Amino acid sequence: MAESKKLECPLCKGTQFKKEEGKIDSKWGFSAHRVDLVICEQCGFVMTFFKGRTIWDFD
Ligand SMILES: [Zn+2]
Repeated sequence: MAESKKLECPLCKGTQFKKEEGKIDSKWGFSAHRVDLVICEQCGFVMTFFKGRTIWDFD
């Protein structure tokens, strides 16, 4: 997966992150979603990215 966009922490503007894979259960009765958890190494802020379709991508 190519990551062209550079992430910036919305809290501390840090650019160092560690990435972990996670899984969350859907609230809508579908199977669990695979997610990427991106954790700011500076302040610990966690961002969650859905694999495949994003939360902004519903149609
Ligand atoms: Zn941060």
